[in-house]
Amino acid sequence: MVTTVAVLGSTGSIGTQTLDVIDRHPERFAVQSLAAGRASRLLIDQIERYQPTQVVVANELAAHELVGAGIDRSLVSIGATGLETAAGDANVTVNAVLGFAGLPATLGALRAGRRLALANKESLIAAAPLVEQVRSTPGAEIVPVDSEHCAIHQCLSVVGGGAASVRRVLLTASGGPFRTATTDELADVGVEDALAHPTWSMGPKITIDSSTLMNKGLEVIEAHALFGIGFDAIEVVVHPQSIVHSMVEFVDGSTIAQLSMPDMRLPISYALGYPERLAVAFGPVDFAGGVEMTFEAPDLERFPALELAYEAGRIGGAAPAWLSGSNEVAVEAFLTGAIGWRAIAETVAAVLERYEPDPLDSLDAVLHADGRARDVTRAILGGRLVG
Ligand code: MG
Repeated sequence: MVTTVAVLGSTGSIGTQTLDVIDRHPERFAVQSLAAGRASRLLIDQIERYQPTQVVVANELAAHELVGAGIDRSLVSIGATGLETAAGDANVTVNAVLGFAGLPATLGALRAGRRLALANKESLIAAAPLVEQVRSTPGAEIVPVDSEHCAIHQCLSVVGGGAASVRRVLLTASGGPFRTATTDELADVGVEDALAHPTWSMGPKITIDSSTLMNKGLEVIEAHALFGIGFDAIEVVVHPQSIVHSMVEFVDGSTIAQLSMPDMRLPISYALGYPERLAVAFGPVDFAGGVEMTFEAPDLERFPALELAYEAGRIGGAAPAWLSGSNEVAVEAFLTGAIGWRAIAETVAAVLERYEPDPLDSLDAVLHADGRARDVTRAILGGRLVG
């Protein structure tokens, strides 16, 4: 039987790699829907090639442009409603939408009892209590596409014993492009420096997050939400070679790790095929060819964003939503040259100090918390923001 797939965020890094994986298994998977923010040439090419039954874009303008390019208007839907419907209709939804805008896809897939292959960590982080509610729908399951969480999912799958047998989860971090930079050097790094990731090729938002270690901080919260593991039992360890994608240490002292060369098509393939393994290999390790693996503790002084994420995670409620929303605004400000690199974490810290507690028991509450976090961030950044 062919598995239908919604590829939401199809023109981004994860989206294009998902289509690459699907291309290698034409007998197993069919693209049912595609979603992207804009009506780019790439999206139009994808529509012509994969012939989806549904296409979602961010707004009317983009829909109009698709029609202008010869796409049938009846295929096209818009925004949050479109994402939610597309996610509910397919057997598997790959949610690779950028940032908080991916929330309707996460909720739509789970509410419909579908598999969610989750690359959009922001939706889970900002709305964990809501996601938790819909996750218990019969048939609903989350298989993480984030490489670290995919690794943890694999480590936990091969070992029995349940939660009581886990002592700690070790999330690995490459350390990003500034792992060895001094505090002085960090004062004047530019956008180009921050976008030069040493081991992974990814979109700009996550690449900047990797340079500040905010990405790892968001992943700590993501691991807590996905696997129900307490923050004291989640540790970050810097591993510059990005070969060990994460590890689980058990109460008897044994550690299980997942290894592969950095290639996001492996976690995508795992999430599409689970519980089976798809027989096209990505990133097998050539151990005999000589593999160096080193590990070290993260430096919280130079990378304060990591500690901020632990703080927000421990506060719970809407604090992770504030952290993530504020970070999205600050990263955008950095990418447009409005603020420096160190100001990203400083801004998020200032926003968290103004946190307004909220239990986040409804979608309205989540939207409100995200909006408040962004407003407070923009107020703090003030005149430095353009547009
Ligand atoms: Mg990751």
